[in-house]
Order: sequence, then C-alpha cells, then structure tokens
Amino acid sequence: DTAVVLFTRDLRVHDNPALAEACAGAERVIPLYVLDPTLAGLSGNRSRFLHQCLADLREQLRERGGDLVVRTGDPVAEAIRVAREHDAATIHLAADVSGYARRRERRLTDEGERHRIAVRLHPGVTVVDPGVLRPGGGGDCYKVFTPYFRIWSQTRWRAEAPVPQRVTLPDGIAAGHLPAIPDGDSPHAAEGGETVGRRRLTAWLSSIDGYGIDAYPDVHDDLPADRTSRLSPYLRWGCLSPLALAEAARTRDAEAFVRQLCWRDFYYQVARVFPKLSTEPLRPGGDRGWRYDEDALAHWQDGLTGVPVVDAGMRQLRAEGWMHNRARLITAAFLTKHLGLDWRAGVDWFFRWLIDGDVPNNSGNWQWVAGTGNDTRPGRRFNPIRQALRFDPEGVYVRRYVPELKGIDGPAVHQPWRLPKPVLDYPGPLESHRDEAVWLRG
Ligand code: FAD
Repeated sequence: DTAVVLFTRDLRVHDNPALAEACAGAERVIPLYVLDPTLAGLSGNRSRFLHQCLADLREQLRERGGDLVVRTGDPVAEAIRVAREHDAATIHLAADVSGYARRRERRLTDEGERHRIAVRLHPGVTVVDPGVLRPGGGGDCYKVFTPYFRIWSQTRWRAEAPVPQRVTLPDGIAAGHLPAIPDGDSPHAAEGGETVGRRRLTAWLSSIDGYGIDAYPDVHDDLPADRTSRLSPYLRWGCLSPLALAEAARTRDAEAFVRQLCWRDFYYQVARVFPKLSTEPLRPGGDRGWRYDEDALAHWQDGLTGVPVVDAGMRQLRAEGWMHNRARLITAAFLTKHLGLDWRAGVDWFFRWLIDGDVPNNSGNWQWVAGTGNDTRPGRRFNPIRQALRFDPEGVYVRRYVPELKGIDGPAVHQPWRLPKPVLDYPGPLESHRDEAVWLRG
C-alpha cells in the first residue's frame, strides 16, 4: 500500500517520525511538499532558506531511491488529491502549534475522513510534545519557566526515529518542479538545508578551537565572540531534530545549552494554548499605554537610534537575518522600555528579517522583554550602556556592525556623544530620547 508524508517544517530525513513511520508501514511512500501561495508573503530571507532546504531534502530523498514530490496550492487539497490519485490510505505529518498549522491539521483530518484517508500526526517539532506536561495546580500550560524546566528534564523523551534506508515512490508519479532559489534580503544569511545543518551540528558538538558546546556556558553572552551555536534557523525549519540535539547535549552534560533548548519547548507549549501570542498580551491587562512614534520606530528599525549597541544589533539583523540573543534582549528592551513603543511593532520587524523567526519564540520572547508575558519581574529595566560595557567591553561588536564608528577605539565607542568631537555621519541619540539621565537609570 501507499502512504503520503506531508512535509511542513520538518525538512529532514534524520529523526523524522512522520517519514520513518510511513516508510516502516507502507511499501510505497510519497514525500510531499506543497508550495502554499498564501505564504508567498514570506520574507526574502525565509523564502530563500526554505527553498535551499527543499532542494537539499530532494537530494536526500533521491539518494534513498525516492524524491520530493512538489505541488503548488492549498496543502490540504493537494495532499488529499495526491493521496487519492495514488490510492494512499494514510497521510502522515508533524504536529505543530501555530493557529495556521492547527487549522490546517483540522481541515486535513476532516477532508481525510470524507475520503477515508487516515491522517496521522507525529512528534518532532519540539523535544517534548507541547501539551503533554501540565502544571499540578491546573491550567493548560506552564507560564513560568523554572518549574517547566524541572519537569521537562525529568520527562522520558521519545526514542529517535530511524533514518529510512529506502524510499519507494509509486510508479509514474511526477515529482514536480522546484522553483529556483530566490534571492534573500540579507547578504550574510545562513544557508538552508539538512546537510549544512548537520555539518554545523557536528562542528558544534566537537568543540574545536574554542567554538562549540563545551565553551557555551562561559561565552554565550559574549557579543563579539559570537560563540553561540547559530543552529536556530535549522531548528526553525526542522533541518535538525531538536530531540537529537538535546540528547547529544545531554550526553555531554551541557546543562546550560539543554536549558536553552527547553526555552524553545517552553514557548511552544505556551503558543499552543495562546494562539494569539503575537497580538495579545499573555498577562491579562499586561499592555501598558504604548507610545505611537513612527519616526522613533523607523530609527530603531534602521539602526539609527544613536545608541551604538542597539544600532549594531539592528544592523546585524539586516545583514545576517539573525541576531545574537544578548543583542535581541538589548534592542527589544530599548524599543519597549526606553522608547515606550508597542512590542507588536518589534515582533513584526523581527519576523520580517529573522530566518529563525517563528510565532512561539519570537512573540514569546518579545512578550517576556516587554513585561506582558512570562517574566516573573515584568518591571525589569535594561540599561543599554551598562549592557554594552558588560557584554562588549572593548566595543568590538559595535565596530563590526556600525562602520561610522570604526575610528573610535575601545569602550568609548558606546557613548559617542561624550567624545570631544562629534562623529559626523552618526546620529546623536533620538530626539524623543535625549535625556541620558533617564535611560541610564534602568
Ligand atoms: P544558542 O544560544 O546556541 O541556543 C541554542 C538553541 O536554544 C537556539 O537555537 C534556540 O532554539 C534555543 N533558544 C535559545 N535561547 C532561547 C530563547 N530565549 N527562547 C527560545 N529558545 C531559545 N529564537 C528563535 O528561535 N526564533 C525567534 O523568532 C526568536 N525571537 C526572539 C526575539 C527576542 C526579542 C528575543 C530576546 C529572543 C528571541 N529568540 C528567538 C531566542 C534567541 O535569541 C535565539 O533562539 C538565539 O539567539 C538563536 O541563536 P543560537 O542558535 O546561536 O542560540
């Protein structure tokens, strides 16, 4: 018999439970990806990365005797059509949490029922399935990280799914055309695909030359060192299995790193229960009266606030489609706590550029920073200069991304307004934000 595997954001052959089960249970398997025109608004960076992933997945499947079957249209209608054309009894796919994904799952299940096609949902997008762990005192999800981490760490994780040796397509099926890889927006963006992701993972785990998982606890906050894993885009698109990564990290006793992977799971289980995470505050009444200031927002987006560490982060985002976590914290706090602008504007801008951008992690983290979400200290303030001096003490990170300031040596680069001579092509701190005393107070 025949089974369809509908790939969505699990673009890999290693530890892919949907693919593994399909291959174990059916003689013929149709690995399917449906290009959904309603997602055509995907940013250039994400679109490029996705297409690189698809090209690589096709290669991986061809090496195993199969192919990636590509169709265009509504994923539900196309999956059902392909299943019916080839008499498939089952459609397998990875369960996901966003509102869009869950509507798609429901529609697929309903349509499947109508045509007597079984729809099977599989784990694989997170380490522990969202929704499995429930707080003792009631409630649908954990809202505070530490107790979640405790339970999550003690949970028995599923076994990794085997990589299929062979994928056998039904006779005569047309593989379909994969469009050329589009241009991205960022000149220095990561390259997509399971092959590149696995290469990076191996380098990360082998920890050679001070880069890698062993040094992580000491250097993960060091802005110029840039020694976090940079695996987030590969996790976002499922080129890497979060479970396999967490297992590998756990066997190396890399607790600090495993903890970060748990943050990822944490926000997924929040997003599953709060589908409006990107638009509504998690804490009822959590929104403050946000200011409306288009000019200040544009300066923030363009990396022209006049606060070098903030501008460096915002320019890294555009140059690479990625930003260091410490810089994400600093720039997000600056937008919400200092400029007093709405966190949703930040969510949208990050989403536009980040290759790893997804609803749970992007919106979840923004709400944490804005104090509308899971932070146990919502009034927390961030002093950007103190942060800069602590995490970029010599100003190396700033000079890397803000060329106008290249000529200023050492930590003085963090406060150019204090220099005897102004830097001509770099702005002074924003009009709305001139009073240094106010923002150094944080
Ligand atoms: P590492 O430090 O090597 O961590 C390993 C992995 O752990 C990451 O790849 C990621 O999957 C996970 N992780 C680490 N920190 C966090 C965190 N705070 N929350 C959730 N997961 C985490 N991460 C995203 O994947 N997508 C986003 O859209 C996103 N938006 C963010 C927005 C803001 C305002 C902030 C403050 C953080 C955001 N993060 C997001 C979390 C974090 O900044 C990135 O995951 C991290 O910088 C990715 O780089 P890395 O892979 O080198 O991380």
